[in-house]
Amino acid sequence: MNKPCRMCMVCRERKPKSELFRVIKKSSGEIDLDLTGKADGRGAYICKEGNCKEKLLKSKALNKSYKINVSQEVYDKILDKLK
Ligand SMILES: [Zn+2]
Repeated sequence: MNKPCRMCMVCRERKPKSELFRVIKKSSGEIDLDLTGKADGRGAYICKEGNCKEKLLKSKALNKSYKINVSQEVYDKILDKLK
């Protein structure tokens, strides 16, 4: 069986879920990092390794993933947790 793969929202490469961080948008609209991988919500993924984290803010990848205008505060919050 194939491992479940997801696409990084920054580099668009498909990777096993174990190599990606999961970000979710909850039904409340809140966007946050999901370290359990099991939280309810719409997931977007980003590489744990490499420079995708640095590119996240510049690429505005969350805006594209969720098709909404994601605030600087949300990017800061997520990037802070990704450190
Ligand atoms: Zn990536």
